This record gives sequence, C-alpha cells and structure tokens, in this order.
Amino acid sequence: MNNFEIPYLSFKAMHKPIELELQSAANRVIKSNWYILGKEVADFEKQYTSFISCQYGVGVNSGLDGLVLSLKALEIGPGDEVVVASNAYIACWNAIHLVGATIVPVEPDPFTANIDPGQIPSVLNSNTKAIMAVHLYGRLCDMDALSKIGRINGIPIIEDCAQSHGASYNGTIAGNFGTINSTSFYPGKNLGALGDAGIITTNDSVLADKVRKLRNYGFSQKYVSDSIGYNSRLDEMQAAILNTKLKYLTEWNEARIKIAKFYDKHLTAVPELTLPKPAYHGDHVYHIYCIQTVKRNELQSFLKSKGIGTLIHYPIPPYLQKAYSFLKWDGSRFPIASRLAEQSLSLPIYPGLEENELAYICDQIKSFFEQ
Ligand SMILES: *Cc1c(COP(=O)(O)O)cnc(C)c1O
Repeated sequence: MNNFEIPYLSFKAMHKPIELELQSAANRVIKSNWYILGKEVADFEKQYTSFISCQYGVGVNSGLDGLVLSLKALEIGPGDEVVVASNAYIACWNAIHLVGATIVPVEPDPFTANIDPGQIPSVLNSNTKAIMAVHLYGRLCDMDALSKIGRINGIPIIEDCAQSHGASYNGTIAGNFGTINSTSFYPGKNLGALGDAGIITTNDSVLADKVRKLRNYGFSQKYVSDSIGYNSRLDEMQAAILNTKLKYLTEWNEARIKIAKFYDKHLTAVPELTLPKPAYHGDHVYHIYCIQTVKRNELQSFLKSKGIGTLIHYPIPPYLQKAYSFLKWDGSRFPIASRLAEQSLSLPIYPGLEENELAYICDQIKSFFEQ
C-alpha cells in the first residue's frame, strides 16, 4: 500500500476554488493603473486589522522587514538588548542584529517551543529594550506572563505573528498584545500572498505613523523625508490577493485544527512520540503540527520512502548557524533549543488534506515504531 504521494504543503485545495476570484483581483490591479501604496493596500490594512480587532495596520513587504521597522520605530539600536527565544526563526534574530542591537536568547518551553517567561527575569538589565514574543507553530506565547514582565519592567513586547494568523489567547487575537507587532504573509503561512508580504499592527498611533514613514524612505509626503527609511512597501498586487484570501482564513484555520485533532487522536497511543499540547478553539491555528521523537531522522526518511513529505522547523538553531558563529555559542548553552532542533518533525498540514491521506500518514508512523 504505497499509492499516496503527500507533499508537506500544497496550495491546490485553497487556490483552485478561488482561482477566478484571484484572477479578478489581479486584473483589478492591472487595470487600476496604480501599483504601489494605493487602494488595495489601504483596504487590506483595514480588513486585516478589523479581523484581529487592532487599531492600526501598516502593510510591509515581508515579516523580516516588519520586525526591523518595529524595532526601528521603538528606536532600538546599538547598545540595546532584545530578548528572544533561543529557537526562534532566523528572521527574528536577524532583525535584532540588523538594527545593531544585541540578541539576548532565552530557552523555550520544551512542549510549546515558545519562549519560557520564567527564564526572562534573569537576563533583564537596564539595556533591555524589548522582548520579542514569537508565536511558534500557531500557538501564542504565554502572553499573561510576558505582558506582566513587560509592564513591571517597562519593556515593550514585540509580537511575531507570522505563524499565528487568527490565533487567540484568552479571546484576544495575535497582533494585539505587543506594543508593536509584525506578521508575515509568505505564501506558506496560514494566510499567504502569492509572493512576499507582511503587516505591522499596533494600537499606538504614533508608532503606526512612524512605521508608515519608515516603509517608504521616511517620507511624510512624496519626496519629503522625516527620517531615514527603507523601501519595505507592500505592493498593490499582493494586497489584492490578500484581500481575496483573507475571507477564507477562518475556514482554512478550521481545516488545520481538524487535521490536528485527527493526528492527536490517532497518534496519541504511540509512546515514542511527544505530540503538541492539544488546543482546538482558535487558541492554536496549527501553522505547523510538530511532533518530537528521538528517532526523528529515521522517521523522516521512512516517511519519505512512503511518499510522505515532512519538514523540520528548524534543523539548525540560530546560534549554530555559520552566520552567528561570531557569538561563539555552542549547543550546550541552549540544551532545550538544541533538543528541539534534533527531535522535531513537522507533519503535513494544509486545507485539502483528506482523511484517507491522514489515516495513511498515521498508519505509516505507527508501522515505523512497530517494526
Ligand atoms: C516566516 C516567518 C518570518 C519571516 O517572514 P518573511 O516574510 O519570510 O520575512 C518571521 N518570523 C517567523 C516566526 C516566521 O515564521
């Protein structure tokens, strides 16, 4: 029984039914005669912030630039320290380094892979200027604990919501907790553009104003520079696509939650696996369904031989990347992040994944551990 070819990710079931809508969105832009910072971007900023119930949204070209601009808006730079998880995505570390600030990594919770608030107080000092809350896999960080640490110490939180579109914590949606927050709409995210895109969200009008200028050379109006800015604009074409796809995000998130439920139910009896902590009420939107096992590499090869694609988020933690070799940190400094990198495996999860495919995946995983 090996007649399945299941990729790690497929867009087909999401895009096929809305192909005409996507084409008409693209046509709308082509015919508009206006391609940068126009009606589509303004519309998307309005639609997305209304979806997450946040006041201000500033469309940008990527999640990375959203983080850089957020740090810049908070006037974080050389001499300042930013706390971030040791296992965060490389873009989070890069953003901190690119503004000239110092990366201060702390270990994640071994089960959620999100930053462990308990580890934070010991690294705080007068140079700490922000805590980056990266909501990994689709589940929010412990925002009560992080907000409390931020409040007590007067340190702003920056959320990275790239993997948590629509995910909530105590009823509040990601992108609302931090002082200023960044989101990516890279194609593979729960809400993905057909290219690069992102948004910064905030409830602070001054910060919103600042990043609005920073994304466009620092212009307050055409050719009038208030600050030294970037070109980090979201373009009309991607905004039009996002305006179309946003309408389906809740439905797609629900499809992901259903898949996670299936995995939870059918893999729970496998003692060699650590499954994600279940959460089905929109408090986890399962961007990634990450299991942990000491036999990760063997399981991945086995599944590949059975036609099942998987990924590892992430195989090399930031501190072991050549790019950060100058920090001279080895794996022993961050044992939890190192273990996650060695034992994590992400199973296929996307709208359109059929129940017989899921059953096949679970059967193959069980048969691997039974052999
Ligand atoms: C994808 C991602 C980013 C980077 O987004 P880009 O749009 O690719 O720059 C940042 N942080 C996290 C957690 C991500 O998953």
